[in-house]
Amino acid sequence: MALSEFALIERYFRNCGAQRSDVTVGVGDDAALLTPPSGCELAAATDTLVAGVHFPHDSPAASVGHRALAVNLSDLAAMGARPAWALLALTLPEADEAWLGEFAAGLGALARAHEVALVGGDTTRGPLTVSVQLLGHVPRGSALTRAGGHAGDELFVSGTVGDAGAGLALEQARLSAPAAERAYLRERFLWPTARVALGERLREYASACIDVSDGLLGDVGKLASASRVGAELSWGDLPVSEALRAVLGEERARELALGGGDDYELCFAVHPQQVARLFAELPPQHWGYTRIGALRAAPGAVVVRDGTVMEFSHSGYQHFV
Ligand code: ADP
Ligand code: MG
Repeated sequence: MALSEFALIERYFRNCGAQRSDVTVGVGDDAALLTPPSGCELAAATDTLVAGVHFPHDSPAASVGHRALAVNLSDLAAMGARPAWALLALTLPEADEAWLGEFAAGLGALARAHEVALVGGDTTRGPLTVSVQLLGHVPRGSALTRAGGHAGDELFVSGTVGDAGAGLALEQARLSAPAAERAYLRERFLWPTARVALGERLREYASACIDVSDGLLGDVGKLASASRVGAELSWGDLPVSEALRAVLGEERARELALGGGDDYELCFAVHPQQVARLFAELPPQHWGYTRIGALRAAPGAVVVRDGTVMEFSHSGYQHFV
């Protein structure tokens, strides 16, 4: 590489994230030294984005940096954990300084917004691949998991679902849309919002939680099976954006809401006796979440429309492409 690995790390990554007083040693030594708060458990997650697999090769570099961290923030949010420290394993075909500058800006802005310090990583040459490891903390014993749900718990999801799947299809020219809807949906894919504050607050209310990364119906199924129950979603209650409806129509918008990936919203279960307190203390209109169904004893995740269970082929939602 024209730029030495050392110079590259110094220039783009040494001061990329937040400064934190609990980082004794950060970028520059053989390992980072961190001091977790007492009384807490560490929460750790890692996710890899491969160019051409998880994002188009020509994605804006700042968006690649943002998404690489956002997907991990979303995993910690789903546990109710507070993010604190990140490591970045970066594989680059070449040291393209314009690309690196934008990538670091996208990653750094989101890291600072969540007070996450970039404390280390690895830089290698090869096909463009970005792997972030994120560490955070949660008061001992209070983390949310997928496994705590019970039959009868009500199910909620934050934000709207399906937008990012349409945004990716627009990026890949598998779908077209008018300018305003196109801008909104692309933004939802390129710049996902991890629901970190909501996740932390949900520790007091939710029995189980998962982040929606692979499609709502499949992810609800994972939460339900981890909780050893099933789930019933209400077709008419799925939160779909105006833009998604305008581009795909009501029917296909709801199909994509169930099957599209990359939304990074939180889906969570709440015991019926806690719902009134949830609504009072975390007003849905402020926090932006919607009731979409409930957990039930019978296994499997189903969608009910006008009193009837819908049938889906696994690739049903893909037929708009
Ligand atoms: P080592 O060979 O001992 O693993 P490196 O020379 O690879 O060390 O890295 C030097 C320092 O720079 C280490 O502290 C490492 O964590 C950090 N580092 C390397 N690549 C990155 C990166 N992409 N982002 C942040 N820190 C990095
Ligand atoms: Mg070393």
